[in-house]
Amino acid sequence: MKLSDAITIDGPVASGKTTVGKQVAEKLGYQFLDTGIMYRAVTLAVIESQIDLHDENAVSGKAEQIKIEIMPPAQNDGRQNDVFVDGQDVTTKLWENNVRDAVSLVSTYKRVRQALTEKQRQIGSQGKIVMVGRDIGTVVLPNAAYKFFLIASVEERARRRFQEIQSSGKKADLAEIQHALEERDKIDSSRKLAPLVAAQDAKIIETDNKTVQQVVAEILSAIQEK
Ligand code: C5P
Repeated sequence: MKLSDAITIDGPVASGKTTVGKQVAEKLGYQFLDTGIMYRAVTLAVIESQIDLHDENAVSGKAEQIKIEIMPPAQNDGRQNDVFVDGQDVTTKLWENNVRDAVSLVSTYKRVRQALTEKQRQIGSQGKIVMVGRDIGTVVLPNAAYKFFLIASVEERARRRFQEIQSSGKKADLAEIQHALEERDKIDSSRKLAPLVAAQDAKIIETDNKTVQQVVAEILSAIQEK
């Protein structure tokens, strides 16, 4: 099996994948892709088209039809990327609660996953990239040379998300955040297709009580050692 240059980072909600992955990519001069954005973009398009979220066929048709573009951010307001769906900037809408509460259901659908996995593999085939998500090491890029799986307790993850929302100036409720996070984890871990699970050859990193810098350093040293 030929190993690719890619680095995969998977893990549950708010395990730190995106923050850590982005910094690892910057340090190595690699591209970065947060695949969760793509599932969120499909979900938003479905909601805005008033398609019934339980109508798998219609939701899948939408996923196959829309054009998702992920660009470097044009504004410096903390956003990771600018995201366009069919030419329209949807970046800020992707983080709204209606998307958060529907995305895990949409992500269980086979044709939705096929459409997005294909796009992710195309992007991954361009070489040096850090790609983060739930199934990157297991399904999307199984030949990646370096695979990581981040974990943290549910309380710690809820606290992180709470602080993130508060620091962006919005109101947040810790108990509600923890409940939503547990619901998403449950669906992501128990789905039949590409469930949230560590690849057998992934290094598992526990991130409770560690700073972002410590986790980044752990990943970089694991890469150097290999
Ligand atoms: O990472 P983020 O929380 O933004 O992902 C949103 C949702 O997208 C996840 O809860 C999961 O249901 C789905 N997802 C997925 N596979 C990926 C990335 C995200 O199923 N590779």
